[in-house]
Amino acid sequence: MASMRSINLSVWCTRLVHVSITIGICLVLLINNTVLRQQLNMGLVILPITYILVTVSSIVLYFFVACMDPGFVKKGDTDVIEIKLIVDEDDESDDISLYDSRHSLTNGYDVELQNNVEETVGEKTKMLNSKNVPTRCFNLEPHQRCGLCGLQRPIRARHCRDCNHCVRKFDHHCPWITNCVGERNHRWFWTFLFYETMLISWSIYISITGYESSKTDWVSQNIFLVLADIVMGILLLVVVSLFCIHTYMLVNNHTTWETISRHRISYLKGIDSSRNPFDLGICHNIATFFCYFKPYDWNVVYKKSNDSSDTNVQLQISESLSEIHYTSET
Ligand SMILES: [Zn+2]
Ligand SMILES: [Zn+2]
Repeated sequence: MASMRSINLSVWCTRLVHVSITIGICLVLLINNTVLRQQLNMGLVILPITYILVTVSSIVLYFFVACMDPGFVKKGDTDVIEIKLIVDEDDESDDISLYDSRHSLTNGYDVELQNNVEETVGEKTKMLNSKNVPTRCFNLEPHQRCGLCGLQRPIRARHCRDCNHCVRKFDHHCPWITNCVGERNHRWFWTFLFYETMLISWSIYISITGYESSKTDWVSQNIFLVLADIVMGILLLVVVSLFCIHTYMLVNNHTTWETISRHRISYLKGIDSSRNPFDLGICHNIATFFCYFKPYDWNVVYKKSNDSSDTNVQLQISESLSEIHYTSET
């Protein structure tokens, strides 16, 4: 309970810091003799009000990304099976292999289960009743279940210890927004980065208009603008870097987690590092990223990609063989 309280406290402290910095910079630009102040002094309010509205909407967008479900794997999902539904309480063996082996026979695509399926593994015979399992199952490969939350983990999902959930198409846990970035909020996270890039650039431009040109006491007259520019410069560097990285990710259908930890991820092991099995093509990647709001069946994409890759390898082998044959004949 104490650790949960400290987590909540740190989350809200981080959010408070973000809001304080955003409002603080806005106030510095309004109080100093910037173009905003000059326009207010002349009775022109359109530019100052626009700037304030853009700043407030950036805070709203921040909280929207920070508080939304990033794509948590839930017990009620059609492609998620609780372990307790499958495991016989009197049996300590891992029945997941029973369940998964049945699906692997049907290539993991839409599977209509029979009412009663009898499976034999070694000397054991078990009865699985269809009322305990969904009739349509996908994302069941690779055969993994989360050791921390106990749910069947779809491909591309990962358990986040900070959020204590498995997250679909896990990208990373962002300490600044204090939330995971996953399948549901990755597009909003990208939008937030874009919005922040625009806002910070505009704010730096406004701050430059407010510097006093006094030769005697320049530092003390411009100290708040200097501090604001230092903070904004650092933030702009971070935000632009992240924006470029995540634009690359969305165009190529990568995730940060898969890129950094490729060697540790079971479904990417053995696949050439230059090949991304989830790549749908640039246009389709962008459309899926921004416009697809339901959980995506990445397992089907993965299987199709691997099947076509196997076919290509076979074609290459047969081409090489025919080339050898042709060379030996000539
Ligand atoms: Zn989990
Ligand atoms: Zn998280």
